[in-house]
Amino acid sequence: MARALFKLAIYMLLFLSFASYAHGQTAASQSNYVQTKQYVPGEILVKLKTVSSSGVGLGRAEVAVRSQSFLSRVQGRGGYRLKKVFRDMNVYHFATPAGMRVEDAVSQLENDPDVQYAEPNYILTKASVDLPSDHYSMQEVQSMSVNAQSTGNSTQSTGYLATSAPIEVTNTWGNVTPNATVVVAVVDTGLDLTHPVFTGAQAIWTNTGEIPNNQIDDDNNGYVDDVNGYNFVANSGDMYDDDGHGTHVSGIIVGTGENIYGSTYSPSQIKIMPLKFLDSTGSGTTANAISAIDYAVNNGASVINNSWGGPSYSAALQDAVAYAYNAGVVFVAAAGNYSDNNDVTPMYPANYDVPNVISVEATTDQDQLAYFSNYGVDAVPLAAPGMYILSTYPGGGFATMSGTSMATPFVSGLAALIKEQSPKMLAYQIKQIIDQQVDQPVDSSGNYLLSGKDSTQGRVNFLKSIDAAKTAVVQTTQPAYSSTNQDRQLASALAASGCGLIKEVIHDDQNGGPTNGLGPQSWSVFLLIMIFAAPVLLYQYLRRKPVQRRLHERFKIDTDVKVKVGDRELVGSISTISLGGVQLNVDALIDQGGIIAMSIRSPDGKESIAVEGRVVWSEAQKSYGVQFAETTAAIKGQIAAWTTQLSVAKK
Ligand code: CA
Repeated sequence: MARALFKLAIYMLLFLSFASYAHGQTAASQSNYVQTKQYVPGEILVKLKTVSSSGVGLGRAEVAVRSQSFLSRVQGRGGYRLKKVFRDMNVYHFATPAGMRVEDAVSQLENDPDVQYAEPNYILTKASVDLPSDHYSMQEVQSMSVNAQSTGNSTQSTGYLATSAPIEVTNTWGNVTPNATVVVAVVDTGLDLTHPVFTGAQAIWTNTGEIPNNQIDDDNNGYVDDVNGYNFVANSGDMYDDDGHGTHVSGIIVGTGENIYGSTYSPSQIKIMPLKFLDSTGSGTTANAISAIDYAVNNGASVINNSWGGPSYSAALQDAVAYAYNAGVVFVAAAGNYSDNNDVTPMYPANYDVPNVISVEATTDQDQLAYFSNYGVDAVPLAAPGMYILSTYPGGGFATMSGTSMATPFVSGLAALIKEQSPKMLAYQIKQIIDQQVDQPVDSSGNYLLSGKDSTQGRVNFLKSIDAAKTAVVQTTQPAYSSTNQDRQLASALAASGCGLIKEVIHDDQNGGPTNGLGPQSWSVFLLIMIFAAPVLLYQYLRRKPVQRRLHERFKIDTDVKVKVGDRELVGSISTISLGGVQLNVDALIDQGGIIAMSIRSPDGKESIAVEGRVVWSEAQKSYGVQFAETTAAIKGQIAAWTTQLSVAKK
């Protein structure tokens, strides 16, 4: 009896701590949070579980019932307000309760038994570079184009403009069998629908099921008046481009299929579906990016161009990319413009390991990596020209722009031409062909110019890729991909570790609960015990180390680590390591839930691995449990190799 009451006292106390924790009132949640990534204040994205705790997939009805119960729980007393539902991914977009910080909301919901993950609504930005941008009228460009053709330049732009790398775009003009009209979704800043290139080439996608400007969702796809795409910033069908980036990117894509610098155009087989989620400053939210990707897949796009990104790993965005993959859709993404190695400093969505993602770095007209371009022998498969690219600009003219933003649409255009050639070909095979048919440029001594820059040492080649696609046996199935990996389950298990026992309380309640069988007398005894025991129990609770359910064996290690927390660079040590995370020792305050980037040295000091992680527990502001946010198979392999020399750490 005494033991039962003691247990009950602990439960009650933990419940009380949970209640205050849930309201963001605990001391820990008040400490200085190190903001490492940009996100929208007051908003979060939450994925609800679609598999049971034993890993069995739940039926549609079961998912619906659980989701409904979760919604009523958090929307009622919880104070969360539902903004949008992404049914294809079972992801929910919420406004957080007034006064609650995003980090606290994420922690709170990650502890919910129905939640697979919760995360901030991160900010993403366009991937162009502020290099000098020259503007030209239609007439000026038409005269330049004549010059380019008369000098036999094989690229789609002029000698004056620095894209004379022999990617053989023009050789494919008119050389692709138009078996289909291919829709390329340009998830960007919008499109100048009145530009003569797009009107002349009839290159804009039309939603035939929608009647313009009647304020009715005629085709019942969830969007009103989405005649030529959708504007997720303004929530309207008004597609105007208030930045210029999206119009420029779209012109490059159409330009892979025909000469956009000429004075006449043939009807384009590539149709642009503009989906605006970046605003006039070139930034947008992950929730709107997911909306755009979801729209693209559900409304017939075969290729999605993504000339944008950010440093934050978002599981919800990865789920959206995986949704596109499972629909056979190619997802082309800019590698980024920070001169960074993406194997070390990941960029998303470019770094997702979903098999439809083609991450593109930018090269010069001399086939060298552009000085600003990100790269990565694991994360980036290939390059395309990305400096001073001449393309369409809002207002009817043209402009030069630079960035991996401009390299990306070359590859999207190529993917569309392959799809035009082979309408049944799926993303997996299209990516394979593009990767296999690159050119490997060399310098005058025969050294590979892109050695160490991408996995193929290559730059895209249009003619070779199209020719290969013509003879390839079309595979109508592709390997399955699920983003529900073990690491993510571990991430939520560890993130919940600080309140591991609270889950038991909730479960016990559901199964009859610890209060079963207690009469009024027992209650008064219990309350007395509580009053006396509370300080002791509180002390013990605060002293206890977090309970962790580890899926990976943990090893002792003694090695150095460099840590990047926002703008701060710290040096510390690692005392245990597993495939799922590390114990980090560093003499600095890092708040729980914070995302950090680490460069961990191997025990023999010969190599380092770079990995991002989330702080899931901390002790005395010196020792931290860090759960890896996402690790590639290569990194896991490296850690596994290191640990063969290490001894197992005590549980
Ligand atoms: Ca509609």
